[in-house]
Order: sequence, then structure tokens, then C-alpha cells
Amino acid sequence: MHLKSLEISGFKSFAKKAELDFNTKVTAIVGPNGSGKSNVAESFRFVLGEQSIKSMRGKRGEDLIFNGSGDVLRMSKASVKIVFDNSKRFLDIDFDEVSIERTVHRDGNNEYWINGSSVRLKDVSELLSKANIGSTGHHIISQGEADRILSANIKERKSMIEDALGLRVYQYKLAESNKKLEKTEDNIREVGLLRKEIAPHLKFLKKQIEKIEKAEELKRQLEALYGEYLKREYVYLEKEKDALEKEGKDPKEKLERLEKELKDANEKLESSKEKDEKSEELLSLEKEIQMVRGEKDSLTRELGRVEGEIQSQKRLIQRQEEQFSSNQPIPFDEVKNLSLQVEKDLDSISIEEDFSVVRGVLLKVRESIKTFISRYQNTESDLLKEARSDVNKLEGEKGDIEKQIEEVDIKSNSINSKYEKIQKEIEAEKDSERSAETAVFRIRAERNEVQSILNDIKNREIIYLKDKNNFDEELKEGMVLIGSKITSFKIFQIEGEESREKQESRRKELEKMKIRLEDMGGSSDDVVKEYKEVAEREEFLIKELEDLEKTSSSLKDLIVDLRNQLDTEFKDGIRKINTEFQNFFSLMFGGGNASLSVVEAQKRKKSDLDIFSEEEIEEEVEEGIDISVSLPRKKVKGLMMLSGGERALTSIALLFAMSQVKPPPFIILDETDAALDEANSKKYGDMIENLSKHSQLILITHNRETMSRAGVLYGVTMGTGGVSKLLSVAFDEAVVVAK
Ligand code: ATP
Repeated sequence: MHLKSLEISGFKSFAKKAELDFNTKVTAIVGPNGSGKSNVAESFRFVLGEQSIKSMRGKRGEDLIFNGSGDVLRMSKASVKIVFDNSKRFLDIDFDEVSIERTVHRDGNNEYWINGSSVRLKDVSELLSKANIGSTGHHIISQGEADRILSANIKERKSMIEDALGLRVYQYKLAESNKKLEKTEDNIREVGLLRKEIAPHLKFLKKQIEKIEKAEELKRQLEALYGEYLKREYVYLEKEKDALEKEGKDPKEKLERLEKELKDANEKLESSKEKDEKSEELLSLEKEIQMVRGEKDSLTRELGRVEGEIQSQKRLIQRQEEQFSSNQPIPFDEVKNLSLQVEKDLDSISIEEDFSVVRGVLLKVRESIKTFISRYQNTESDLLKEARSDVNKLEGEKGDIEKQIEEVDIKSNSINSKYEKIQKEIEAEKDSERSAETAVFRIRAERNEVQSILNDIKNREIIYLKDKNNFDEELKEGMVLIGSKITSFKIFQIEGEESREKQESRRKELEKMKIRLEDMGGSSDDVVKEYKEVAEREEFLIKELEDLEKTSSSLKDLIVDLRNQLDTEFKDGIRKINTEFQNFFSLMFGGGNASLSVVEAQKRKKSDLDIFSEEEIEEEVEEGIDISVSLPRKKVKGLMMLSGGERALTSIALLFAMSQVKPPPFIILDETDAALDEANSKKYGDMIENLSKHSQLILITHNRETMSRAGVLYGVTMGTGGVSKLLSVAFDEAVVVAK
């Protein structure tokens, strides 16, 4: 026995607290009409969570609260508490005793408690439905509702039977699962939308990342190329620096030496200017020579004049002498000899340059002639004597002049030799100037040569400096592009020598790579970070989608399982109910047949309505439960044809069959026996006893037979105050009270 007690307070006509103990299998509640018996049945519905106020004969929650009467004030709330014995854990809660309480306030607010703890309606419904105390109240048959199962449509009937079979829990689970599935599908759509939303951004970021990765790859390539380029350049520059220093050393020294030599040679050239002074001296000597020559000329002329005079005197003398000696023949041979002698002497000096020799010869010639003449001369006249004295005088004069000439000649000779000496000196100096000039030319040529070598070196130095500068710039740029890794270029291994052109083409390749790298744009940490975030989000969404799809598919599986289970258990239940139904029915009617049949949902052709129509109209048939009965000894078939009593009996048979298959902890039957005659009341009483083996029964009744089957009887009375009162009564009292 699970039901222990019920406490009603402020509920409908129960203004004062009323308590019912159910420590027996069958409890009957009796009392006159309108005393409040049905209110007790409704208080069960109320406390078990009934939400239909109508099913408790009210319009609003307020209608359930005691409304006051002449001398009793209306109540502010209605409360009902039901207590179960849960020592066998028929309720899925770990307490030996479980109380469920519900209160409704005038504002329509409801409160629920389980064992004194405030809970939600859902908690109460879940707890009860698992114990087959469903909210459809199949185990609470209100007054006049006995044939509700017969009058319900097939769908409602199905739901009532499912409830009675305890399949509500599946329905509940199914609804829950469907709801969950719907929510999961919603979430799947939502996640799909979110993924769709971030997809273009993710695609964009992915492309950016690809670019960045490409740039990184390019950077790695650049790093390698840089390594080789810088190393080779470094080696080249070091080598070139050494070479320039080495190659420049000798030419520089040579140039220095040449410059010194040139300076010396130039100095030598400078010194040859002295020769001008000598030229001047030479000129003055020339003038002197000229002067001496003039002197000599005038002396010679004087000599000539003196000699002319001498001659003319001599001719005079001769003529005088001839006059004396004209008769004196002079042998021809003698004259001829003289002539020959003179001729001979004169010839001897014809080319003589030495004046003194010439003079000597001439004096000899004169002496020869004088001697010749004196041989043939007689006495001389006075004139002759005078002439002779003149001649002597002139001869003296002539001697003087000749002496002077001689002096002049000596002077001239000295000047001439001096002139020649200086001239020779000048020549010699000219020679040394020429050699100095040659030296200057030679040195200059050599200097030009060295200069050209040095120019070459200078040019190479310029190129070296330019290259060095480029190298430094490249290093700086590399630092910006690749970072400090660039500085480790020295460890790069290079193999073999190569031409500068190769390095140049490597440099061009570097430039190209740098441009490409620049075109790719710098790597932004923000993009990487954002990509990471978005990708993580995408991953999260995919994971979530996977989880959701898993959930969805397991929910679908669960739903299929639940449906199958429901279907199996339902069909199985129907089979069992049919067996019981048949039993109870034939017990009630002393034979006949009664059964339930499952109607599957389908579309049925409805073509018989319009025979002219070629259209086939379809009608939807809902799933549900059909009831077919055939009474014994009567040809009547179908529920419509049953009398009121027969209907009551059929529905009681079905209700009892349902309760038999899946017995609820308790069943409340409110005047279900009202329409029964005495014979049927007896059969009803038997069936109740049978039923009470599995479920506790609370029977509201006016039927004596029914009362007689109860262990405990409660009488309900209502005084003039309109307040219901409860009291435990004995059978005889009950019979009285019921009236
Ligand atoms: P019968 O035997 O005729 O079926 P009953 O014993 O089942 O009668 P109920 O229907 O349970 O009687 O009780 C009805 C009584 O309860 C009525 O007198 C009605 O006035 C009273 N009642 C119903 N609701 C309230 C309420 N909110 N406040 C006060 N009294 C109420």
C-alpha cells in the first residue's frame, strides 16, 4: 500500500483542515448529495498537478479556494497534501515517506513542495509519471466520467490507454527528445550560419597567412642567398683591400722617387739659364773683335796710304834715277831674274795668313829690288835725296803702323781665343741642358706610366669603396628584412672562386627577391593572431557541429528506439488489456465479446461520395483505438447501440481491464457504480475486490454493496455553514450518512 494520507485545507468546501488516512485497501467515502465528496476526489487531482481547472469544476484557480459562507470567512489559499509510503521506492526518490503538497493562491499562483522543499510542477509530474500516476488521471474517474473512455474519440482513447499502460513516460521522453532534437537542429543551423559568416573572413585571413608563409619561405631563400652573397662579397672586399694596398705600394714609392728625380732634373734645367750671361759676354767679345777689326782696318788703310806714298816717292826716285841711268843698259837676264825672284817670293806668301811672315817676305823683296837698282844707279839729285828722305820717313811711319798692326793682331788673337773658349763653354752647357731635358722627358714618361697604374688603382679603390659601401648598406637592409640572423653570414660555406659577374647577377637576384618580398607586404603579427583566433573559432565550431550532429543522430536513434519501445509496449499492452477486457466483459454480461483494436494513421480513399467525379478524394485517418463489442444473446453490435447501464458496464469492464494490466498505486472511482442494478452491483463489488489486490481503492459511492467491500468508511457532511466535514464512520452509520 502506497497511499498513506490526504490533508485538505481551504480547498473548495473544505474550509477547515480535514485529514484522511488510507491504511486499508479499499476506502469508501460516503455522504449526502452536495456534502463535498467529489471535492475530495478533485483534491487528489489538484495535489497530483492537474492543470485543467475545468476538470475540477472551476473556471479559475480562485474557484478552488474556499469562498466563504455566512459565518465562515473565505480563505486566501487552498492547500492539499498527499503522503505516500515509499519504503518500496515506488517513487524514484530516496525517502521512505514522500509528501507532495500544492497550494493555490487567490492570484492564481501555485506552489509545489516535495517533502517540504519547494519544487516545480515539472518535478512533481516527473516523479509521479514514473510511478504510473499520470496527469491524465486515468486512475481518477470523476463522477459521470465512467464512460468517458467510450465517448472519447479514438485518439483521446489511445492517449488514455497509453497513460494507463504507463507509457506516458515514453511520451514524455519522446517529447523531451523531440524538443532536444529540435533545439539541436536549431543549434546546428546556427553553427552552420556562424561558420558561413566567418568563412569569407577566414578565407581572407588564410590567404593572408599563405602570403605570409610565402614571404617567410622567400625570406628563408633570401637569407640563404644573402649568406652566400655577403660572404663572397666580404671575402672579395678583404682580398681587394689587400691587393690594392700591395699593388699600390711600389708605384707609390716609384712615383715619389720620380717626383724627386723630376725636381732635380728641373733644377738642372733651371741652372742652364746661366748660359745667357755667357752669351752676353760672347756678344761683348764680338763687339770688341769688331772694334779691333776696325782699328786694324784703319791701321791697314794708313799703312796702305803710307805705302802708297812710299811707292809714289819711290817712283819719283826711280824716275830720277832712270834719268841718271837711262843709258846704262841693264841685261835682260838680270831683270828677268829679279822678276822671277820677286814673283817667287810673292807666290810664297799668297796664301800665308801670318802677317809677320808676309811682312818678312815683303821686306826681303824690297831689299832685293833696292840692291838691283843701286847696282845700275849713278848719282842722285837733291830731289832724289829729298825723296829718299821722305821715303825713309814714310818707311819709319810704316814701321810704326806695322808695329801697331802687330799689337792689334795680338789683341785680336787674344780676344778671339777668349771668344772661342766661351763659345765652347756655351756648347758644353747646351749639351748638359739637352740631357736634363731628356731626363725630364724620360721621368715624365715614367711618371705618366706609374700615374696611370696608380690611377687604375685609384679607380679600383673607388670601386672598392663603392662596393664596401654597398656591402654595408646591404647588411643594414638585410638586418631589416631578415633580422640579426644576417650577421652570421661569415659562417656561410662557399665553394670555389667565381667571376664578379656571377656575384653581380646574384645581387640582381637579391634585388628582385627584395622587391617581391616588399610586394608581399610585411608580416603582421595582428593578422597571424587574428587568423589563429578565427581558425580556433572555426575549429571550435566544427567540433561543436560534430558534437551536435552526434547528439542529433543519437537523439534520432533514441526517438526511434522510444517509438519502437512505445509501439511494442503499446501493442503488448493492448493485447493484455484485450484479454482482461474480454474477461471482465463476459463476467459483467455473462458472455459476449469485447476488444480494442489499433487504428494506424493512414490516408483512405473517399471516392464513393461523388460517383461522377474522377478525382479521388483522400481522407486522413488518425491513429487511435477502436472498441468493438457484441453482447451475448443480442445481435446489437457497436457502442452506439448500448443502453446507459450497458455502457456503464462496458466502460467499467474496460477501466478495470486497464487497471489490471498496469495497476496504478491507487484508483479513485467517483460514483462509477451509480447506474448499476443490484445484480451488477454485486459483480462490481467482486471486481473491486479483485482490483484491490493490486491497487488501493478510494470509492465515492452511495451504493450499499460497494460500501460493504470497504475496510474504512469516511462520512462527509455539510452543515449550514457550507463547510464540509469528515468523519470516520462504521458501515451502518455510513449507510445512514449516504442517504
Ligand atoms: P453528490 O453526491 O450530489 O455528487 P457531493 O458530495 O459529491 O454531491 P460535491 O460536488 O463534492 O458534493 O460538493 C459540492 C459542494 O461544494 C457544493 O455545495 C458547493 O457549494 C461546494 N463548493 C464547491 N466549491 C466551493 C468553494 N470554492 N467554496 C465553498 N464551497 C464550495
